[in-house]
Amino acid sequence: MIDPVDLLRRYLTIDTTNPPGGEVAGARFLAEVLDGDGIASEIVESAPGRANLRARVAGDGSLGAIVLHHHIDVVYADRRYWTVDPFGGEIRDGWLYGRGALDMKSIGVMQLTALLEIARARVPLKRGLVLLATADEEAGSRYGARFIAEQHPDWLAGAEYALGELGGIHNPAGWRAPFGMIDVSEKTGLPLRLTARSSPGHGSMPWPTTAPHRLVHALARLLAAERAPRVLPEVREFFAQLATVLPPHEARGFDDIDRSLRDPAFRARLLADRWYAAMVRTTFAVNMLKGSEKRNVIPPEAVAEIDCRVLAGDDPDEIVRWVRTAVADDHVEVEAMTPPKRPNVSPPDTELYKSLSAALRRRIPGVVVAPRILTGFTDNWTFRGAGLQAYGFSPIVVGDEEGGRVHGNDERISLENVREGTRVYREMLLEMAAG
Ligand SMILES: [Zn+2]
Repeated sequence: MIDPVDLLRRYLTIDTTNPPGGEVAGARFLAEVLDGDGIASEIVESAPGRANLRARVAGDGSLGAIVLHHHIDVVYADRRYWTVDPFGGEIRDGWLYGRGALDMKSIGVMQLTALLEIARARVPLKRGLVLLATADEEAGSRYGARFIAEQHPDWLAGAEYALGELGGIHNPAGWRAPFGMIDVSEKTGLPLRLTARSSPGHGSMPWPTTAPHRLVHALARLLAAERAPRVLPEVREFFAQLATVLPPHEARGFDDIDRSLRDPAFRARLLADRWYAAMVRTTFAVNMLKGSEKRNVIPPEAVAEIDCRVLAGDDPDEIVRWVRTAVADDHVEVEAMTPPKRPNVSPPDTELYKSLSAALRRRIPGVVVAPRILTGFTDNWTFRGAGLQAYGFSPIVVGDEEGGRVHGNDERISLENVREGTRVYREMLLEMAAG
């Protein structure tokens, strides 16, 4: 048997902090492991040091392949706040520490180990299994998933499904059952820029419509304009399942949030929760503001940049128009800063989705499983765009405390999660792919 803990420990010692990434070192490590089992892999560099790897265990071609993808890069770790070396691969009290322990070298190792074990057992496969390790996910995927979709579509040829990061099982104290999530869509970013213009002047004699004053009023109107919640069928299902695990007083109304949202009190309560609110509407976070360089100078221009996240089904052009209407000032220009990405969704009733659901139940008996619309963003959006049904799937149990270490300090994963997650991943792939 392959020891996934040892593989992950070794993988975590390879520093693939992005920027600069240096994913080629991680790709070479994976290639070596694969080579040890006689599985060939291909590494393609999208830029110097920015590498993507693909390896494949062939099926008989009767059914579409499953792409198992993970990103090799990790975010920066500030060593001053860690109690262990973030690239030391240290094990303490049943936990393996390191940047990437959850996000997401662990999942990559589960995919790799499952693939190696299936190959070793020489199980005849109907579906091929494609291991894909990508660069640059933490900085926009230009050198990774997007590069593959644009430059190497052959790497995805013949595939029907893709499995990537997130999803997972929550099991907080006080809940009636563990809650498993499978991500079926992610919200997409629509960065917006608001530019207010007016004549410049001296700070000693302001007037109501200086550029910064216009901007502040425009933003206030935008934040006060309530965008109506819209409940996707997947989100309705998410809340209906969540209702069965939450403590009863918290679950009230969740069994049918479409109906419940007509009640102003329920609506206010739901929207007061930032996570729930982000699942039922497109959101606007005013995060960057720029006015004058000097306090006594009224500038001719004031600019706000907004992190807008689009819910599936919303049209980016309509959102820009909606913001213009809310802002209601012709002297404030509203523009999308990048070409819009339309959110996409994979249905929660495919053969793979059902198998993922069963896998989570094998991981923790009694778990209640629901589809989730991810408020963040992953490479699954790109793979859906390439024609695959893509899901975020992690057969691991993650508490809030550990979840908070993702992109934070002392990121870690329990050895139980590594071992049991690998087992479940392998069983699920066998169920899906074996002939
Ligand atoms: Zn990630």
